[in-house]
Amino acid sequence: MRALVARTLGAPLAIETVPVPAPGAGEILIEVIACGICHSDLHAVDGDWGTPPLMPLIPGHEVAGRVVGVGAGVADVALGELVGVPWMFWSCGTCEWCLAGMETICPSTESTGFSKAGGYAEYMVAPAAFVARLPESVDPVAIAPVLCAGVTTYRGLKRAGLRPGQWLAVLGVGGLGHLAVQYAVAMGLRVVALDVDHEKLALATSLGAEEVVNSADTDPVVAVRDLLGGTHGSIVTAAAPIAFEQAVGVLRPGGTAVYIGLPGHARDTISTSISRLVESEITVRGSNVGTRLDLQEAVDFAVRGQVAATVRVVGLADVNDVFADMCAGRIVGRVVLAHDHGVST
Ligand code: NAD
Ligand code: ZN
Ligand code: ZN
Repeated sequence: MRALVARTLGAPLAIETVPVPAPGAGEILIEVIACGICHSDLHAVDGDWGTPPLMPLIPGHEVAGRVVGVGAGVADVALGELVGVPWMFWSCGTCEWCLAGMETICPSTESTGFSKAGGYAEYMVAPAAFVARLPESVDPVAIAPVLCAGVTTYRGLKRAGLRPGQWLAVLGVGGLGHLAVQYAVAMGLRVVALDVDHEKLALATSLGAEEVVNSADTDPVVAVRDLLGGTHGSIVTAAAPIAFEQAVGVLRPGGTAVYIGLPGHARDTISTSISRLVESEITVRGSNVGTRLDLQEAVDFAVRGQVAATVRVVGLADVNDVFADMCAGRIVGRVVLAHDHGVST
């Protein structure tokens, strides 16, 4: 099969012919139809995070595909079914966090396209118990971004604990952020979107954001406080540390900031006012991908047409250019890699 492989951190990916993997016990073989290109893939192959990925690495963790093989003991997923593979490839199921329904922070977790081979390949294997079940009605290209960008922002919004009618600031309207705007609107929240690029803000407006602020032109903390007196919640999907500071600054007293973006170990610190956190009883929460329940719920919003990613489709040979565009902040919405099985791309 053809796959995009990283052999050295920071180097371009190369198209290689590698063996089709065989599903082990409890695993399924998936013919990958589409795989979204998440900023985390770029962080992974650049070695931005402290832990290095499995090398050589086949990235990709927004995978939509069809089951074409089943390993021993797989009973709940059938041949021919459409499934989705998220970042959380597997979690142990027995640690205190898994038992408490917090499998997203299982210390033994495996990650798709990071510690396990992902979807920048024509085929991949995944544990049957961890894939999303997708109805036949979905378009694999359209659903792919929901499998990371969607579920991650959906869980982040749940963790913000807001009620319908309250204001949410979305800091960063990229692949994740443009879905965050839609989930928030679907949940009855009012959205102010912040980015450093006017095209992304225009997309946010078209998706239901009532206010937008260009953080490159103005101090967003002052702007949001002037506009709204602050927001009840904020969610950071930008990978710039300053946005994490601003996410605290834009809040009303009693507000909650949810941190999702991962700038990397070289830019991993922020500074904030202790007295503001204390005197205004501000909550700051991290949010890491989503549980299997979050995933199924996030997919369900998309199946019912309440969220839809803005996508551009590319082939294997284009992914290095997509990474360059992502690095330069030139991508509006999400780019999705589509495998043309049997046809060269
Ligand atoms: P993206 O490149 O598509 O979007 C990032 C957006 O942030 C862009 O629109 C960019 O213009 C905007 N931005 C940059 N600087 C900004 C600033 N100062 N203020 C406001 N906006 C700014 O990336 P993505 O795929 O959406 O991923 C975003 C981040 O989320 C990455 O760091 C990724 O690794 C991380 N991520 C985390 C999780 C998790 O579970 N916590 C899951 C997926 C992705
Ligand atoms: Zn991702
Ligand atoms: Zn566990």
